[in-house]
Amino acid sequence: MQLLKDRILRDGKSFNGGILKVDSFINHQMDPLLMKSIAVEFMRRFSGQSFNKIITIEASGIAPAIMLGYLLELPVVFVKKAVPKTMDDMISAQVYSFTKDRTYDICVSKEFLGRDDRVLFIDDFLANGNAALGVHDLVTRAGAVLIGMGFIIEKSFQQGAERLAGLESVQVESLARIKELKEGEVVFED
Ligand code: 5GP
Repeated sequence: MQLLKDRILRDGKSFNGGILKVDSFINHQMDPLLMKSIAVEFMRRFSGQSFNKIITIEASGIAPAIMLGYLLELPVVFVKKAVPKTMDDMISAQVYSFTKDRTYDICVSKEFLGRDDRVLFIDDFLANGNAALGVHDLVTRAGAVLIGMGFIIEKSFQQGAERLAGLESVQVESLARIKELKEGEVVFED
């Protein structure tokens, strides 16, 4: 997606250690027009799939997910990263965070995810795939079916895409694939 790549080159900040900051248009300040274009592109890429719900994980996946939900007129469920005290009928799974080197719980209410659901997962970044695999686990535990996963940015020098390729019948799409991040330099896959 050229518009997204141009924006990353213009406003993204890359650091040694393979971290890309996109705080001025995705992760802190958000650009709704770019988000809309992102959602349109997701809509195009998943047009061959049938699903009734979009799922994401708080917080940065919510903006692209709600934009896509708006365009497709589908409900959007966001998985919570902390287990709320008031939620009793829920499904949970664990996610390992490479950046924080710790495991945390994610959860969703059984009221909003169950056997009748075919869901598309949307998130901002695919790095090592831990968040995505945690959500896949959660969806499976709920008895729902995960039909696809869409990421705004994939860091293809990390293990995520390879790990997700092992999931059967899940279409994985990334709108911008980065093969190298150096201090002040972003290199995309062709
Ligand atoms: P994974 O679970 O695939 O290893 O990591 C995915 C999550 O880590 C994303 O949802 C995102 O929040 C965060 N993340 C991983 N790498 C980066 C990065 O380079 N930049 C930013 N802004 N977030 C990242």
